[in-house]
Amino acid sequence: MSKICIQGAKVWDGIRADTYAATVIIEGNKILSVRDGSQPDLDFVGEVIEADGLTLMPGLVEGHAHPSFVGINEPAELGRISSEEHMLLTAKNLELLLSHGFTSVFEAASAKPLLGVTARNAIESGLIIGPRMRAASPEITTTAGLGDERRRFMHQESFGLIGDGPIEMRRIARECVRDGVDNIKINISGDEFVSHARAEVTPMEEDELSALVSVAKTFGKTIAAHARSSKSVKMAVRSGIECIYHCDFADEEALDMLESVRDSCFVGPAFGLVHNCVHEGEVAGISVELCNQLDLYRKFETCCATYHKMRERKMRLVVGGDYGFAVTPMGQNARDIEHFVRYFGYSPVEALQCATLNGAALMGESTRLGQVKPGFLADLLLVKGDPTQDVSLLQQRENLRMIMKDGVLYKDPRVMLAH
Ligand SMILES: [Zn+2]
Repeated sequence: MSKICIQGAKVWDGIRADTYAATVIIEGNKILSVRDGSQPDLDFVGEVIEADGLTLMPGLVEGHAHPSFVGINEPAELGRISSEEHMLLTAKNLELLLSHGFTSVFEAASAKPLLGVTARNAIESGLIIGPRMRAASPEITTTAGLGDERRRFMHQESFGLIGDGPIEMRRIARECVRDGVDNIKINISGDEFVSHARAEVTPMEEDELSALVSVAKTFGKTIAAHARSSKSVKMAVRSGIECIYHCDFADEEALDMLESVRDSCFVGPAFGLVHNCVHEGEVAGISVELCNQLDLYRKFETCCATYHKMRERKMRLVVGGDYGFAVTPMGQNARDIEHFVRYFGYSPVEALQCATLNGAALMGESTRLGQVKPGFLADLLLVKGDPTQDVSLLQQRENLRMIMKDGVLYKDPRVMLAH
């Protein structure tokens, strides 16, 4: 099996608070050894990558990815793209994510059935290039919930699969299982962008959620929930959902409940979207008036306060900020790591761990991914500078000198290809 030796780098292994000099040897798709010190291994036979001035770290994990969200202004646009075109655009986004250092993505929802599943299979078979992927169902919602863009006078597809009552929910979930999804996505709460069901409204009823969760658990699927309202967070915790997104308006009781399941549950703020709407909305036509109308300034402040508390309660956070809208262009995903530092009180290393260790655990791969450690899969980055001091370095592709997934160099520092 071919071997690659990376020497001269400082290593951030995913666990320690600092970096250290080490020589790392990769054999096949795994890390064979991590040897302290910067002395070259004179007996080594294989390819050598000189990495002076670079930091070797685990590949990033996008914990709330929407590869099939293709720069849209509003959800209904997703319903107007043909499946064929949508598949190609999704494939392009996935390679873009890999080129930004995301060697794994946990899909938070697919915009149409089969987009995520097909992309995952195509990556695994080598048909297209992309990160490791856990594929999601579309967002399962109710009439009048987030993802239902229909009106009495007009049928309009969007990104949701709409059902009402437990019988329909069981059928929808089973169909997604039949499609081959890894994750079932459930929209329990509303959202600022739904005029009749804002973020603090909870359109889904307990019996509908129970039916969905029961099917997902029967087939061993991971469940991820869109849960902004306090009530929806409590419903999600009570149902045993493994990944609860947003939680912006979680009250103290909801936070207590979350803390009680912190070893088995992940939370993802998906903060990028609200951040960009509030701070950079003009590029996508989101005015100050609209932000006021949608109460986004209060939402921004509430989210920051909630995630300070999440940190104090040692919840396991994953990064990912609803990238894929016009206001949150795909490829900027690593910005969320900096948001954790800037807005939620995380240290740079803690924020990096959300994007590596926690992400790997969410992928169900905590014993094989997310660390620079012998025996682990070789999903690795070489970064110019030290991201443990400045996480914003990860936002510029030119700083990512090497991107390796499964032992294969997607970006080779010895060949400065323009990706
Ligand atoms: Zn999302």
